[in-house]
Amino acid sequence: MRRFILYLVRWQLSTPILWLVVRKMGTGIWSTVIANLIGGAIFFWVDKFIFTSKAVEVWHIKEGKCDQCGRVSHLWRLIKTAGYDKSGSNPVFLCMECSKRKTDELRAKGIPVRGKSR
Ligand SMILES: [Zn+2]
Repeated sequence: MRRFILYLVRWQLSTPILWLVVRKMGTGIWSTVIANLIGGAIFFWVDKFIFTSKAVEVWHIKEGKCDQCGRVSHLWRLIKTAGYDKSGSNPVFLCMECSKRKTDELRAKGIPVRGKSR
C-alpha cells in the first residue's frame, strides 16, 4: 500500500515537467515526447528507489496451512524487500514460527527484513 501511494506521488511529480515543457514549446507531439524523455531520465532513478528501497517491504497475508510445517494459522509470505524479490516465484506461505525462522535466515544473509508491519 505504501508503495502504491509513493507511486501515485511519483506520477504527480511528472506533471510539472510536462506542464513546463508544453508551456515553453506548445502542445505539439514533440514537446510531449521531450517532456517524457526528461521525465524518464529523472524517474528512472526515482522508480529505482521506490522499488528497491528498504522503506518498501511487500507481504502477502492469508489464512491456511503452512507450506513448511502444515499448521493451520495466519500465514505470511514475504514478496519483496531490498535485494529480495520473489514476486515471480511459486508462492510459499509460512506460519508465524516458520516465517520468523525464514526471515532470520534472510537477515543472516544480509537482506534487511523488518518484519510484518501492522
Ligand atoms: Zn510453519
